Amino acid sequence: MKVLVINCGSSSLKYQLIDMEGEQVLAKGLVERIGIAGSLLTHRTNGQKTEIQQAIPDHKVAIQLVIDALLSPQYGVLKNLSEISAVGHRVVHGGEKFARSVVVDAAVMAALRECSELAPLHNPANIIGIEACRALLPDAPQVAVFDTAFHQTMPREAYMYGLPYEYYQKYGLRRYGFHGTSHKYVSRRAAKLLGRPLSELKLVTCHLGNGSSITAVQGGVSVDTSLGFGTISGTIMGTRCGDVDPAIIPFLMEKENLTPAAMNDVLYKKSGLLGLSGVSSDARDIEAAAAEGNERAELALSVLAYLTRKYIGAYAAAMGGLDAIVFTAGIGENSITIRERVCAGLEFLGAKLDREKNKVRGQEVDVAVAGAKVRILVVPTNEELMIAQETAELVG
Ligand code: ADP
Repeated sequence: MKVLVINCGSSSLKYQLIDMEGEQVLAKGLVERIGIAGSLLTHRTNGQKTEIQQAIPDHKVAIQLVIDALLSPQYGVLKNLSEISAVGHRVVHGGEKFARSVVVDAAVMAALRECSELAPLHNPANIIGIEACRALLPDAPQVAVFDTAFHQTMPREAYMYGLPYEYYQKYGLRRYGFHGTSHKYVSRRAAKLLGRPLSELKLVTCHLGNGSSITAVQGGVSVDTSLGFGTISGTIMGTRCGDVDPAIIPFLMEKENLTPAAMNDVLYKKSGLLGLSGVSSDARDIEAAAAEGNERAELALSVLAYLTRKYIGAYAAAMGGLDAIVFTAGIGENSITIRERVCAGLEFLGAKLDREKNKVRGQEVDVAVAGAKVRILVVPTNEELMIAQETAELVG
């Protein structure tokens, strides 16, 4: 069975065509600058890269181009469109309506539109992607896989904020959590690596990338997570602030005469690694600057590591124990120094990093010292494969 995985952003579209027999990526690519001058499709198959530059006014045209590329006699991988058994779509927000992936029908589309209020920047693009695929691939079932669904298992005490209850009822103000597909994927891989049933395990999965979240996974389900209603709480991120005292927000709005939109910009786009360091939002640049003695870059790294460590400790307490810490995403998979900094001080929990084993990037490996009670794992995430697996399961 071949599954097409689509991740639609407001002006971009990522795709992968995966053959579920052997879980092979047959082709993948990216459409950039949809609706903007300079649109570009980059298509990759078996080591071959093809770039197609042409006007791409909307997502339907983008998906048509992707289909043309997949069918191309020169760089395509399909003879016939009917070879695509299903399409799996990444959808950011499923609110409280979706605790698992679903086959899209009219009722699901209506529910997705209702969830758009919770993710106004993301869900509308995801919906456009689904509609375009339904029009162009009418025979393939469309499946929605949500970033939030994995976290719907959180208990009430973990997802409720201490705000007047009526706001939860009126506006759905609660913790939802994101990156669920990644946390789910790496927790399953962690159980395999540990050779133990997931149902027995207490894990803290640290997805540290441009956006970051840390999740407590107990018995294979999410019981708490650091992102909340929006995508800014928890540890600091590339440009997002992480946990701040909410009292700062009205204070700063008054002092700096900021509108709500300008305040949002500060919290989402000018903070985090970039705001603290003044160097960059990219961890590699900051590591390089810190190594050259830049004190604010050093500060940014230490805040990232400290907050991550604090969440690991908090979630070990929430679960009443810990079997493994799992590092994933750009920083988690690749940054030797950040993993080292995060783990420094966790020895009391039984988590001791082996500094030699930790000198790895992007490999599935256990980097704790031999015999340590709590294992420390590096697990490259693969959200596309997880989406394809869930899609195949639903339509298979
Ligand atoms: P996104 O959230 O956009 O998917 P990624 O998961 O790709 O982001 O993570 C991007 C982050 O990973 C950037 O901060 C980048 O600097 C960091 N990163 C990637 N490779 C390395 C590396 N070798 N060392 C340190 N950080 C890295």
